Amino acid sequence: MRAILTYHSIDSSGSPISLDEGALRRHIAFLRSGKVAVVRLEELLSVPERRDAVALTFDDGFANFESVAWPLLRYQDFPVTLFVATQRVGLDNAWGGTAARDIPTLPLLGWDALRRMHKQGLTLGSHSRTHPRLTEVDDAALAAELDGSIADMERELGTRPTSFCYPYGDVDARVADAVRARFERACTTELAVLPPVPDAHRLPRLDAFYYRPPGRLESFGSGAFRRHLWLRATLRRLRSR
Ligand SMILES: [Zn+2]
Repeated sequence: MRAILTYHSIDSSGSPISLDEGALRRHIAFLRSGKVAVVRLEELLSVPERRDAVALTFDDGFANFESVAWPLLRYQDFPVTLFVATQRVGLDNAWGGTAARDIPTLPLLGWDALRRMHKQGLTLGSHSRTHPRLTEVDDAALAAELDGSIADMERELGTRPTSFCYPYGDVDARVADAVRARFERACTTELAVLPPVPDAHRLPRLDAFYYRPPGRLESFGSGAFRRHLWLRATLRRLRSR
């Protein structure tokens, strides 16, 4: 079984984007047990499906990524991809200038910190420029969000990002085509493990939010894990209708 794990903020608020440090430490302890391989996002699709493997992704680039998560992950030599909205770097996650309900407004990392961790081995991916709902912007704005984020990262980090992450997981055929023309792969917020033949530009992920209880991530690959995931995904689909 292959899967991409999604993390956002490591804090103790209990919000939908938050995982507390204790839960992250439990996840890391399980991942370092060797039962599941931790591979680069770029490599996950070439891992045979019969093997258990995960890739780690963090969205948005919260300041607590550098202060809490990165030291722990780096110590284990785990590859990590961090997705940042390049025009929000150094600001906060009140996307569009408005704070979201139930979600804390938190500081985002600046370029100095991103450059520092990039030199230490962190992979940076694009999360657009300003974190809009891409299905709701016109073609010109869509191109500007994608090309602009690439230009920002090339200028600030000296490398071109190869991975993209749709803000809010918001994607349709038009948006996916534009992303496919510019990036090698892209992550959604669809709650699932990778199917046998994944679409590289519609990769589902497992939100760490659902794997907070002790033992849940640790059951990776088992029937119980798949049943819990199926139930969660079904409930989420019903709720979004
Ligand atoms: Zn985001």
